[in-house]
Amino acid sequence: MGGLIWSLGLSPSAMADETGQSPLAKHTEESGASLDTTQQAMALPYLALSLSVDPKSKSIAGIARYTIRSDRQLTHVEFDLDPRFEVSAIELNDIALAPDLWGNDNGLLTIKLPHVLDAGDTAKVSIAYSGKPRIAPKAPWDGGFVWSETQDGSPWIATAVQTNGCDLFWPCIDHPTKRVEWLDFAVSVPAPLVVAANGTLQQVTEKDGWNTYRWQAHWPQSYGVSLQIGPYKLAEKTYRSRFGNSFPIKFWYLPGHKKGAEKLLGQMHDFLDFFEKTVGPYPFSDEKAGLAETPHLGMEHQTINAYGNGFRLAPEGYDWLMHHEFSHEWFANQLTDRTVADMWLHEGYGTYMQPLYLRWSKGETAYRAALWDSRKKIISRVPLAPKSAISSAYYNDEEAGWGGDIYYKGAWILHSLREYIGDEAFFAGTTKLVYGTSDPKPGQFRWQLADTEDFQHVMEEVTGLDLSWFVDAYFRHAALPELISEQDGQILRLRWKSGAKQPFILPVEVQIGNRIEQVTMTGGKGRIDLGSPDAHYIIDPNTKILRFDPDIAAWQKQEGAERARTGPESD
Ligand SMILES: [Zn+2]
Repeated sequence: MGGLIWSLGLSPSAMADETGQSPLAKHTEESGASLDTTQQAMALPYLALSLSVDPKSKSIAGIARYTIRSDRQLTHVEFDLDPRFEVSAIELNDIALAPDLWGNDNGLLTIKLPHVLDAGDTAKVSIAYSGKPRIAPKAPWDGGFVWSETQDGSPWIATAVQTNGCDLFWPCIDHPTKRVEWLDFAVSVPAPLVVAANGTLQQVTEKDGWNTYRWQAHWPQSYGVSLQIGPYKLAEKTYRSRFGNSFPIKFWYLPGHKKGAEKLLGQMHDFLDFFEKTVGPYPFSDEKAGLAETPHLGMEHQTINAYGNGFRLAPEGYDWLMHHEFSHEWFANQLTDRTVADMWLHEGYGTYMQPLYLRWSKGETAYRAALWDSRKKIISRVPLAPKSAISSAYYNDEEAGWGGDIYYKGAWILHSLREYIGDEAFFAGTTKLVYGTSDPKPGQFRWQLADTEDFQHVMEEVTGLDLSWFVDAYFRHAALPELISEQDGQILRLRWKSGAKQPFILPVEVQIGNRIEQVTMTGGKGRIDLGSPDAHYIIDPNTKILRFDPDIAAWQKQEGAERARTGPESD
């Protein structure tokens, strides 16, 4: 999601569950928590997931037919599944298992195997389950199912599970490193409803008043697997890529929204051109670029982005939220964070793409204005990418403000790095990080996992520089580097202060009169001759560097005091 938590005054942790449903089990609530050795050893080459979705009873019934492969000897297998579902049958290699061989403890479904699986063995595991899925208290931040209706009373349903994970509606391994390689996703809904989902549509059949949509997706990101159900119409457009291939952009829109949908398809075309030029080939060109109107604001579901921005445009004339969500096809679905602590790779990069798009479409001023507007939202109370393991619960820490920092601080660090190393190295490093190769060609790369260290290494590789001081100060420490300046006659002395052990050595520009000079900060210190004791000078006149800003800190304090006095803004 993008930039919404702060800008709408919403804070997930403060959202009471008004739906009256039982709270989430501990294991279900967390997403991306450390895997135990059993789940670590399970690879998921195939899943046929069949679901029927009944809007009347707000319930689902499903069968997940997995092919799993064990990377070491296993006596049991484990899936994550919200325990509010009843598991009615489990089969191993088409033979029903006795019910005493499985149990769901607090969201971890453990299945004892009648015989051990050796390393390299594959097995078919089938899980039949049903029940009322968690209703999202506040989608997409606090997720689950959204059971809504269109204006004319037709069911309009969506899932959004980023915060708590895939186990809110299907048995999965809820961790960024555990994707299903091939997903066959068959979803049955009352006719004439339409199901828009991930990948490519293989078949639609109708039987006894129910429509079944069969979708197939390759390597879907686990929280990216989603359902969008409604009385959809389809608008589409062919995109001819600068890489020589072409693929469809498809938009499942609600009746009456044709004009808006076609306009947005035009924007998507432009967005694609920007991303392909800036980062590299659209990662899922063998499937589609897709979006579907949803009753919630938005989410980066792989090849089927949730769209709920109501065709509103930013003053710059583009749908910034759609742009943000679409950026996640590169930064979340193609490049996935290895741990939750590296979530800034999704959101920081995803957020940085909007100013970069403005730079590409409107020029430098639009870029800097958009970035500057987000500067005041950076809180920096906890490290952006802590080295210790954290789970998604930290993402919702309202007090720490971490949720906002992964967007804006992440974007500003990338801005500071780009200004330091230059466009050529920055974008070369970004492409290498996203695709695992410097020269990605459509269809010739696989999704990538990366963490903050990988980011450092790839940027070091393209620049030949040691960037450990940069990464350490910006990502591993909470406080922003602070630039201390002292004037002594006509000499201006500059000194970086950061929480990191190594000196922070980012060069600083100083404008003296009409000329701008760069001050080298060897060992974290530098000096410049101003030419005269009363020369007018500006430090970092183009705001190329993210650093502690006493004016913003004072403003944040003032606003905080104001909020405490008047109460939180309503959303
Ligand atoms: Zn986002």
